[in-house]
Amino acid sequence: MTNPPSTSRPAAFLDRDGVLNVDHNYVHRPEDLEWVPGARRAVARLNEQGFLVIVVTNQSGVGRGYYTEADVDRFHARLQADLAEDGAHIDAFYICPFHRDATVERYRHPDHPDRKPNPGMILRAAADWNVDLAGSFMVGDKNSDIEAARAAGVPGWLFEGGDLDAFIAARLPL
Ligand SMILES: [Mg+2]
Repeated sequence: MTNPPSTSRPAAFLDRDGVLNVDHNYVHRPEDLEWVPGARRAVARLNEQGFLVIVVTNQSGVGRGYYTEADVDRFHARLQADLAEDGAHIDAFYICPFHRDATVERYRHPDHPDRKPNPGMILRAAADWNVDLAGSFMVGDKNSDIEAARAAGVPGWLFEGGDLDAFIAARLPL
């Protein structure tokens, strides 16, 4: 994006696998999408409460050649289609296909700034979307998510299963 929105809004930065969809390892086929309990309600709640909903997801499976960025886009389109049934939406997806052990050379990088625990995706999204970081937070299921949040200066909440909507609702307002 070249023109960030003029109004600054807080964002909910959400990890994808293990937060929105059940993490079956390298999930990429739309038919393999299994929503985490409460995840669709959580996104709807965040939309209603004025948060930008921004997914930040490491996808080393792209770098490893297991699937392509186009596959990731198709999976994300399925997420959006399901959410649309609830009148909900994700504002943006940021993916990191880079990995030090990538077999696809253009994705090989020893420590890409976007790959969590690095905060690159969060910081880029914050600039692209004029995010008010002071009111923002990150939800992830791994310590690398929490470390990325900390490095970006936003609270990181470790989701270890259960109902995502209940988890987030219990922590709002900040
Ligand atoms: Mg995860």
